Amino acid sequence: MMLEARNITINYGSRAAVADVSLTAEPKDVIAIIGPNGAGKSTLLRALNGSVPLASGEVMLDDRAINSYSRRAVAQRIAVVAQEAELRFPVTVTEFVLGGRFAWSNAWGWETERDVEIVRTTLRETELDGFADRLMNELSGGERQRAVLARALATEAKILLLDEPTANLDLAHQAMMLRLVRERCDRSETAAVVVTHDINLAAEFATRVMLLKNSRLIAVGSPRDVLTVDLLKEIFGLQVLVDAHPISGAPRVTPIHTQR
Ligand code: ADP
Ligand code: MG
Repeated sequence: MMLEARNITINYGSRAAVADVSLTAEPKDVIAIIGPNGAGKSTLLRALNGSVPLASGEVMLDDRAINSYSRRAVAQRIAVVAQEAELRFPVTVTEFVLGGRFAWSNAWGWETERDVEIVRTTLRETELDGFADRLMNELSGGERQRAVLARALATEAKILLLDEPTANLDLAHQAMMLRLVRERCDRSETAAVVVTHDINLAAEFATRVMLLKNSRLIAVGSPRDVLTVDLLKEIFGLQVLVDAHPISGAPRVTPIHTQR
């Protein structure tokens, strides 16, 4: 399954939130999108799901316009972890994650044994076994975010779109989140596009990094090629130190805080 954005532009009123951006996501790709607040990252991610009208360009899923697929067909192929999950209603974690199987449900809407097995597996993977019967609206932000990932993994979609999935997570769970995404991509011919502010996690887990600023794509390439002092200065207007992580060898970015 291949997802492709071809020179897409998205306008809000007369302003372009995304200007002439292209992207290709193929099996085993983990693409990190990095850029300042307001750069257009979330808008781009929503467009990849076909849920934002384009001013120009096109989004293709396996060489077919995404809008030629039914919403159900899109939901079977693309799972979204949105920036802000609106999950204040009282469903249990199990019910919520089972919702990820909805796009596959039969005419009666009953879950199959396979659905239940998949839910059990994803709850274990996201370390939520103990939370199966808890209510979503009584979880911490981080626990809820893991449940949202579990639901996305439970869809078995071959494309994962994640918008700041690590924002509420503690150190260990940040790494877990991206490790699970990377493992899923490696093992199941899946592609992921992940918006993140965590440059060092992106450096460890992304196969490719895209730098966005002012609605435009500034650079795309391997973490090593793109996470450079010059490009990060251009994107964030900030002086950084880039060295190699002593264990993984991935680029490691440290802001330099000079005294005023
Ligand atoms: P990012 O995720 O990189 O922080 P967004 O894609 O959310 O950025 O937003 C890009 C730009 O588009 C911002 O200037 C934002 O204010 C604007 N924007 C986002 N959503 C809307 C909307 N629904 N209506 C009008 N402008 C929007
Ligand atoms: Mg955003």
